Amino acid sequence: MPHAAHEEIETTTLKDHAVLIGYGRVGSLVGESLQEDGWPLLVIEDGTEVVERLHAKGIEAISGNAAQDNVLKAANLPEARILLVAIPNAFEAGQIIQQARAANSALEIIARAHFDAEVDHLTQYGANTVIMGEREIARAMLDHTRALRETRTRADEAR
Ligand code: AMP
Repeated sequence: MPHAAHEEIETTTLKDHAVLIGYGRVGSLVGESLQEDGWPLLVIEDGTEVVERLHAKGIEAISGNAAQDNVLKAANLPEARILLVAIPNAFEAGQIIQQARAANSALEIIARAHFDAEVDHLTQYGANTVIMGEREIARAMLDHTRALRETRTRADEAR
């Protein structure tokens, strides 16, 4: 069950850790690589089944909405190194980033957005870096197109 708003949640003992919020299509890819890279990792995810799967794999995870202050407090943000906000809702992401920035002025905060206005919104709340999904898709499409063109040009020159 996700933690209720006024429930007391035990604070993680992790220090110098990465806190990853959301373990869906984006967060799960990020989380797997963070683990490979050796980061002490704490996940906050409101889907209970996802949290159960993470616990089964030995990954520390809190079940609940990260915008609730009792959930976010349990992540020990004052002693964390990096916060990755991988949820799609910019309103909730803004609330999370605002609380996180107040808890730790040196925390590196990376967030996810889908519109230019969200990039500005999340930056204003204190995110260091905001990744705009649609822009990254466009960039990857162009990279592939340019690589294809270069390959064709080189093949034409070799003929
Ligand atoms: P996706 O869009 O596929 O990357 O999935 C987003 C993930 O974030 C889902 O697994 C959601 O359950 C999770 N999520 C969305 N909002 C919150 C939130 N406020 N707190 C914790 N987890 C969230």
